Amino acid sequence: MQCGIVGLPNVGKSTLYNALTSAAAAAENYPFCTIEPNVGVVPVPDPRLDRIAAISRPGRTVPASLEFVDIAGLVAGASQGEGLGNRFLASVRETRAIAHVVRCFESEDVAHVSGRVSPLDDIETIETELLLADLEQVERAQERAAKAAKAAKAGDPAARAREALMARAHAHLAEGLPLRSLETDSEDTIRLSSLSPLTAKPVLYVANVAEDGFGPNPLAEAVEARARAEGAAAVRVSAAVEAELFGLDEADRQEYLATIGIDEPGLVRFVHAAYALLGLQTFFTTGPNEARAWTLRCGSTAVQAAGVIHSDFAQGFIRAEVIGYDDFVEFGGEQGAKAAGRWRLEGRDYVVLEGDVVRFRFAV
Ligand code: GDP
Repeated sequence: MQCGIVGLPNVGKSTLYNALTSAAAAAENYPFCTIEPNVGVVPVPDPRLDRIAAISRPGRTVPASLEFVDIAGLVAGASQGEGLGNRFLASVRETRAIAHVVRCFESEDVAHVSGRVSPLDDIETIETELLLADLEQVERAQERAAKAAKAAKAGDPAARAREALMARAHAHLAEGLPLRSLETDSEDTIRLSSLSPLTAKPVLYVANVAEDGFGPNPLAEAVEARARAEGAAAVRVSAAVEAELFGLDEADRQEYLATIGIDEPGLVRFVHAAYALLGLQTFFTTGPNEARAWTLRCGSTAVQAAGVIHSDFAQGFIRAEVIGYDDFVEFGGEQGAKAAGRWRLEGRDYVVLEGDVVRFRFAV
């Protein structure tokens, strides 16, 4: 479940990525790793896990995690191969969602690629490269689909549908519109997803603001308005502040956050927004050894949740013992929830709810 961090050079991507991974490396009990220099797995902060742990007193707690990829090097002309462009676009293609970092801080010391800080122009520049890359890909797919439709027996519906879809996608892109706004039914969505189009990926705008940029801020507000218009999400973060926060102890951190007028680190909001963007939810397991938060696609079933933990759990699935998070806390854990009639036995097709505390029964 990867979220790619993109943006023009010098907007603060690496600063943000480094803050994320430094915070992850410092987190207690956290199996932190960087898979490659630019791929990091970071914990998803979740106070509910601490509350569960306070009740079941396990040996350790393990948060859920998310994978981020720092994708440097997108510049104007990337789709034409400018600045190693195609290689970077290929890395974007492999991600499931895009965190688009936009520079909303002024600084004499940090050069801007186009000479002035203008978030909306920057967004356009990146979006145009993604669009052009998709256009080229859809053009090729359209040619292939047309050939296949011609070669297929007259009336082969799959080939014709593919050809029609590619023609529609092409016209949409040619108008300058991202594929995420193309209306598709479920079959067309699957057909299109085989191309992993860049402009179909969900986007989160990350307005990288100055230390004093969390109040009224025309640059960040412009980004937020654009996000609203597109139905996308936006968060404000100050990458420079986050980098500094990491070096402070808890008390100093709270004090620093208070002086700049925010109540939690921007990274926390950023990670939560990325989590939602990827369509993810959390379920918990807990016992004497470990309380743990797990990441699951929204809408997944009990047997899929079991498979997230171990393939044996899914293969040998018998039942899931489920307690809603609120019930678990309100009734002081499993025994209390059982006594209150809030403990349920669910089958493999049960759709897991956000925050469910689950124990799987399985046979190997
Ligand atoms: P990237 O090219 O997008 O990865 O940008 P970097 O993270 O390397 O940042 C470029 C420069 O901007 C570095 O010198 C950073 O220290 C600086 N920078 C990043 N974020 C901020 C910020 O929020 N405020 C200020 N003043 N400088 C920042």
